[in-house]
Amino acid sequence: MYSIAIDGPSGSGKSSLAKLLAKELGYIHVDTGAIYRTIGLYARKNDIDPHDEKTLSEHFDNIHIKVDWIDGNQHIFLDDDDVSTEIRTPEISMYASNVSALPKVREFLLEMQRDFARKKDVIMDGRDIGTVVLPNADVKIFLKADDEKRAMRRYLELKEKGQDVEYEKVYEELILRDKNDSTRKTAPCVPAQDSVILDNSDINLEETLEKALEIVNAKLGAER
Ligand code: C5P
Repeated sequence: MYSIAIDGPSGSGKSSLAKLLAKELGYIHVDTGAIYRTIGLYARKNDIDPHDEKTLSEHFDNIHIKVDWIDGNQHIFLDDDDVSTEIRTPEISMYASNVSALPKVREFLLEMQRDFARKKDVIMDGRDIGTVVLPNADVKIFLKADDEKRAMRRYLELKEKGQDVEYEKVYEELILRDKNDSTRKTAPCVPAQDSVILDNSDINLEETLEKALEIVNAKLGAER
């Protein structure tokens, strides 16, 4: 099995890149942020403070998350509900960032994430894939971009989905989430030592894909 880890902060374009790369290579794409978002959604729905590790962990037996792929797109289910759209709001982004700082939550989700890579060739994107989830990944890419560029991408993405958002708010939330995610004690969002840093501030998605393919080919060559 081959595995490719793509990590980076919010709005760096990890999921868009991972999706295209997966299509190109015929691997499955696992967006691990969606899994943390689903835990965040569970906390929100059940009025659990997203910082309250004890209460949330007492609920683990009742949290049934399933990931499936429909026409190559990842869908995520909480119990039997497809929550793939519901998890994409700014409110749930913050819930996800808060619950994901809890060590017990990370431990709860670790094996589930690793399991995907045991069964299939995988491209997994997140914050700690190259450092914690798949430390032996064949290729590790850390994607980054300037703050303003990332905030604008996120803003346009939310607008396109019909959400009523303001750029300034999106920017503030993104910076806050970055700080949360990169300074937490457990599995902070930092590049793995053996990752290749790819800055896509000034290139579009197509060019980012080209560069990522160069990195993959340099590491895996004809093997893949
Ligand atoms: O990638 P996305 O923005 O959807 O992730 C939502 C949140 O989930 C992040 O802000 C981060 O706190 C958390 N996350 C994480 N580890 C991952 C993926 C996401 O902590 N591997």
